[in-house]
Amino acid sequence: MTSPNRSKPASNVEWQEDRYPQPLIKKRTPFTYFQAGWRFLTYLFQREMRYYRKRPIDTLFFLTYRCTSRCKTCTLWQRTDKADEMSLDDWKRTVDMCAEQGATYFEMFGGDALLRPDVLVPLVEYIKSQPGLACDLVTNCNLMTEKMARGLVEARIDDIWISMDGVAEDHNLVRGKERTFNRVEMTIKWMLESRGSSPYPLLHANTTVSNLNYNTFDRVLPYADRMGMDFNHLEYVGEFWDELLDQSIIDGVRPNPYFVRQDGLSVLVNEEQARTIKAKVAQMKKDVRRMNISLQCENVDKLSIKQMISGFCDNRRCYITRGKVTVDPKGNVVGCGFYGDWILGNVRQQHLKDIWNGEKHRQFMKHIAQGNMKICDHCILGVQRNPTPAQNIRDYFNRALGRDRT
Ligand code: SF4
Repeated sequence: MTSPNRSKPASNVEWQEDRYPQPLIKKRTPFTYFQAGWRFLTYLFQREMRYYRKRPIDTLFFLTYRCTSRCKTCTLWQRTDKADEMSLDDWKRTVDMCAEQGATYFEMFGGDALLRPDVLVPLVEYIKSQPGLACDLVTNCNLMTEKMARGLVEARIDDIWISMDGVAEDHNLVRGKERTFNRVEMTIKWMLESRGSSPYPLLHANTTVSNLNYNTFDRVLPYADRMGMDFNHLEYVGEFWDELLDQSIIDGVRPNPYFVRQDGLSVLVNEEQARTIKAKVAQMKKDVRRMNISLQCENVDKLSIKQMISGFCDNRRCYITRGKVTVDPKGNVVGCGFYGDWILGNVRQQHLKDIWNGEKHRQFMKHIAQGNMKICDHCILGVQRNPTPAQNIRDYFNRALGRDRT
């Protein structure tokens, strides 16, 4: 398959924090470095303002917790309850409330969001009918059809994040399902055909790196490039365990994250595997310059070898809790995706303005500030989203100087 109308950037190792504007150095001249530095400082300043104002910026919508995968790195699929999931009208009202409070980006997440075909495409259409709002879908592709792919593209979804932990059997192994990669391949093809000469939706190959694929994850990049995708995003695996969860009980509420050890088996890497990952990423940064695809690898770059082995993420603050509205399938606004039972309120019964920064939200933020939640030290979501300004500046210079964290 040929790549659809993409021009090769001068540098396609992307510098991008989460999805917010970041220094994207395309041409390396003193002026572009200055420009990138200025944008970076502006970004840091705005980010701090948002942190202290506690205004919603974006959302994470769990359309369902049910899932069609059987991943070895995630346990959401063990949640099978479909009772009382929100209707399309409920989700539309939720969009309205979030947008009214300032959120502009909406992530359609699961479980497998394709298990809610009654909601997914109409909700994307609804979001995109409103000026200034954008949205994406994170998908394992298991239930994707050509019609659904076309529907999403016609609804003008901005980004599709396709989980790809390897190529062919390597992917199936991590996902715990045979032939799941076939559907990934079909989805890419359908998406590219549907978008035609338009650059949207941007197609991201989202690769979780763990001890299950440390030796093969780098095969995704050339494959995704050949297929015509736009980004390969590397994310180190997240992991929590019982002892950590027990140490993180707050006011009687135990966290219920979905990145927990299954059958007591860890998916974190050992030292040798961590060094292999770092070496492979270094090689990928060179290889990608000959490709059309862009590589996003800051999630791995930011972690030292020691951190990869221990799973310690050094989150000193949580920006997620203050800016990301996380809504579960029943309409509960929760502290974060890993504290699904810490309920701030419910959008079916309350307006978001009465929930956000309300008593339960403030209590949650206080617990974080007091260091009462040990799982925060191991929260992989925070690696890209939670660095303090000082950590961000350190990482910025490390990357600018091509230094790796070891
Ligand atoms: S850092 Fe803590 S509060 Fe923030 S998202 Fe992670 S687990 Fe939740």
